[in-house]
Amino acid sequence: MFLYFLKEKKKNIKNFLLDQNFVSGIGNIYASEILFLSKINPIKKARLLKIKDCKNIVNNSRKVLNDAIEKGGSSIRDFKNILGNEGSFQKDFKVYLREGLNCKRTKCRGTILKKVISNRSTFFCNTCQK
Ligand SMILES: [Zn+2]
Repeated sequence: MFLYFLKEKKKNIKNFLLDQNFVSGIGNIYASEILFLSKINPIKKARLLKIKDCKNIVNNSRKVLNDAIEKGGSSIRDFKNILGNEGSFQKDFKVYLREGLNCKRTKCRGTILKKVISNRSTFFCNTCQK
């Protein structure tokens, strides 16, 4: 998997995560959440990531996706379970749709910013995501 990081030198990490060749099923919402957990700025170039960062991203991707499945997915778009119930995952968003609010990370005094990357909204903390 780390080979992909090396091959995709010019992409920023956000677009890289959305690339289906990496892990299929990482949606736009989850990409923001994963990068927040990994403390990585979404506009950072993939080639600047350290091995440690790559490992964090892989681990956090697993974590976020498992969590989302357990909670029934996000209902923000078209994900509703067969009973039409809304998933509860979106209530736990750490950065997604939290523009202008305080960062949820303990001891971080940052503010969540929104930036459009390749026409998709991306949310991140301006302080703890480097
Ligand atoms: Zn923060």
